[in-house]
Amino acid sequence: MSYSVKEIFYTLQGEGAQAGRPAVFCRFSGCNLWSGHEEDRPEAVCDFCDTDFVGTDGSGGGKYGSAVELAHAINGHWPSDPRASINKLVVCTGGEPLLQLDTTLLEALQLIDFEVAVETNGTLLPPEGLDWICVSPKAGADLMLRSGDELKLVFPQPELLPEMFEGLAFEHFFLQPMDGEDLEANTAMALQYVLANPAWRLSLQIHKLLGIP
Ligand code: SF4
Repeated sequence: MSYSVKEIFYTLQGEGAQAGRPAVFCRFSGCNLWSGHEEDRPEAVCDFCDTDFVGTDGSGGGKYGSAVELAHAINGHWPSDPRASINKLVVCTGGEPLLQLDTTLLEALQLIDFEVAVETNGTLLPPEGLDWICVSPKAGADLMLRSGDELKLVFPQPELLPEMFEGLAFEHFFLQPMDGEDLEANTAMALQYVLANPAWRLSLQIHKLLGIP
């Protein structure tokens, strides 16, 4: 199988339970809830996306002909200093990474000591053996993946109330204020919700606060 990748970069995980942890991000091209083209946004299932996942033209992006080739490209973004050979983490994101992330690629990454995390919209089932699963449900899309490490709900989404997810088998439950012109108001609402409902935690996008990718 070949893999289409928008970009690969090394940064800090900015969101959720692993916030602050260094990671290589592999952003796969394509999503099943929006084409990524502005002219299609009115018809998109998911219409608030702020990510460019179209094509393969980002830094480190491209068409990779095999899992081993992509795993080596990802490894090339991890620091080469021997002291950095622990805690290796790759976050597979997108777009929707589960359109492409398969067992072959997962095993190729784990073979070179990466923990493999995925950030998914939850509409597809993942390969067995992932080290970290973060699901971010989207209004209008069937939630197939109902267990994992963290559920991260972009808030508010009028059709997706947090209490709809509390019975699912996740270890962590996060509300993340929806970005955009209403970010301040959304953050205040999320804060109020979390204070009143301690099953949830607040996730802020610290990479944006820090001005890093
Ligand atoms: S599911 Fe994620 S990547 Fe796809 S359109 Fe929505 S926010 Fe963007």
